[in-house]
Amino acid sequence: MNISFDLDSTLIPNGKEFETEKLGGFARLFGIEEIRKGTAELITELQNQGNKVHIYTTSFRTKGKIRRILKYYGIKVDRIVNQEENQHVLKSRNINASKYPTAFGFDIHIDDSKGIEMESERYNFRVIIVEPTDKNWIDKIKNELKTLHGAID
Ligand SMILES: [Mg+2]
Repeated sequence: MNISFDLDSTLIPNGKEFETEKLGGFARLFGIEEIRKGTAELITELQNQGNKVHIYTTSFRTKGKIRRILKYYGIKVDRIVNQEENQHVLKSRNINASKYPTAFGFDIHIDDSKGIEMESERYNFRVIIVEPTDKNWIDKIKNELKTLHGAID
């Protein structure tokens, strides 16, 4: 499966919403940002199961910057879609939503936004919504993916 992750408030905290991995002051100087605790293990596990993992964000961070942040934590993803690309593609397809994972070949998108959940119903794409405060977020994702797997394959 092609699985995409949102960044802000899903993997990268907005303030102190969730526990994060250790980040040295030196890395911070170079623009590395904090990342949610357990992110690297989760993504690696999903990849080892044969999934492709992508980032799909409405942030304007450059793809290079996002790749550098992930690399710092030992994470390598397939595709990164930032807001610049997202806006361009959605506009060209006349889609009036903030996100439309289908346009990028993503089977399931993981996000914190209730707005995206509503859009997923209107535009018929699959999402897993994870609350920033959910300490069992990894189990939630794994369980929902298991349930969905049968539906997609
Ligand atoms: Mg978000």
